Amino acid sequence: MKSPVDRRQFLATATATGAALTLARTAAAKETPALMGGTPVRREPFPGWPRVDDRDEKALVDVLRSGHWYRGSGDEVDRFESAYAALTGAEHCVATANGTSSLITSLAALGVGPGDEVIVPPYTFIATVNAVLLHHAMPVFVDTDPETFQIDARKVEAAITDRTVALMPVHLGGSVADLDAILGVARKHKLPVVEDACQSHLAEWRGRKVGTWGSAGGFSFQNSKNLTSGEGGAILTNDGELAERCYRFQNNSSGRQGTGDHVSSLGGRGANLRLTEFQGALLMSQMSRLEHQSRTREQNAKYLTTLLEDIPGVSPAKMYEGCTRNAYHLYMFRIRGEAWEGLSRAKFLKALAAEGIPASGGYSPLNRQSFLRDALASKGFKRLYPKELLAGWEGRNRCPANDRLCEEAVWFTQNMLLGDREDMEQIAAAVRRTQAHAGSLARA
Ligand SMILES: *Cc1c(COP(=O)(O)O)cnc(C)c1O
Repeated sequence: MKSPVDRRQFLATATATGAALTLARTAAAKETPALMGGTPVRREPFPGWPRVDDRDEKALVDVLRSGHWYRGSGDEVDRFESAYAALTGAEHCVATANGTSSLITSLAALGVGPGDEVIVPPYTFIATVNAVLLHHAMPVFVDTDPETFQIDARKVEAAITDRTVALMPVHLGGSVADLDAILGVARKHKLPVVEDACQSHLAEWRGRKVGTWGSAGGFSFQNSKNLTSGEGGAILTNDGELAERCYRFQNNSSGRQGTGDHVSSLGGRGANLRLTEFQGALLMSQMSRLEHQSRTREQNAKYLTTLLEDIPGVSPAKMYEGCTRNAYHLYMFRIRGEAWEGLSRAKFLKALAAEGIPASGGYSPLNRQSFLRDALASKGFKRLYPKELLAGWEGRNRCPANDRLCEEAVWFTQNMLLGDREDMEQIAAAVRRTQAHAGSLARA
């Protein structure tokens, strides 16, 4: 502001605009909800995903015509590994067939196996836990911090036993788990950390990319993810030996050219979990847009938070102070309290959908799903683990905060953040209108 007058005028205008905006919002919120016959807030679809242009087509056609379709005969996957390592500041990158196999491979390379325990959060995609079970290791759940939707790092240490061999926090939704606390506990107990960063491409903790803090970090390039080749995955690590062990595991025990036998401590195990050249080439062209898309999501998400924070009963997911960049794979918030006058989340989601705003209720409690009971009752687990340990598992793995979060959570997907500010205003308007009519919607 050049002079006090300018400043005063600016403030007056700003206040008038602010007041007008508040008025407009209040008026819009009063309108009948679409679920009760009103006009929907929005009719156009949100930006689609994945995004494709000529560069992606050319990348795929070039590989097709080359005849070099697998990584052993081409250099697209090698190029992608170098580029992704450079982008994230990691010393090494090993591509894998998908995010699940990036976690399976990381755990294998760290020597996780039968009889071991691995600490995981319950608020995650099932793949995090499947990767542990596939090694006949035991997942041990640590409750969720409902404020952030991330693993409650304050509760990790109490879950460690003499069977614990690794911590596997998840950076959920593009945000970042409390790495200071988790790495502190890991150092104290000399345990490796595998970061499940499958939803957090380019997210940062204290200015450094996620996936580069622990012993290894796993990423997914599945269709819905912020960087995608339909299926695909990658491991980041700053440990050269670990990188080589990862490479061997996903390449049926064969190392990169010229490597000797000194890194073959994989218990004799290996698999083919290789990424194809098509995917490597597609990831290169997709990656050229990642930074820009990521900034757009971040700006829109920040704006959306300022709008949603004003609505009674709405709590957007908070970030830890160390999270300096959120990749916003998901926009997550909770609805709770008296402001909703008994409106169920299911009805809330239905009302939002009717307004033209698609939303999801997210995960259900993973630690209570039947696949875990099946694993615990399986022949292999009965052989590997003492009876008392299997019998006590359920009691030891209760996560009450997570149970509650699973009932209150609402998600918007990352593609909804790729548009403009008006999109965010429409999302907020739909939530505001639903809240304003919560009582009648609950009774309708
Ligand atoms: C997507 C995802 C995975 C698995 O990745 P895929 O590529 O689908 O195998 C693992 N963990 C989390 C948190 C994910 O979101």
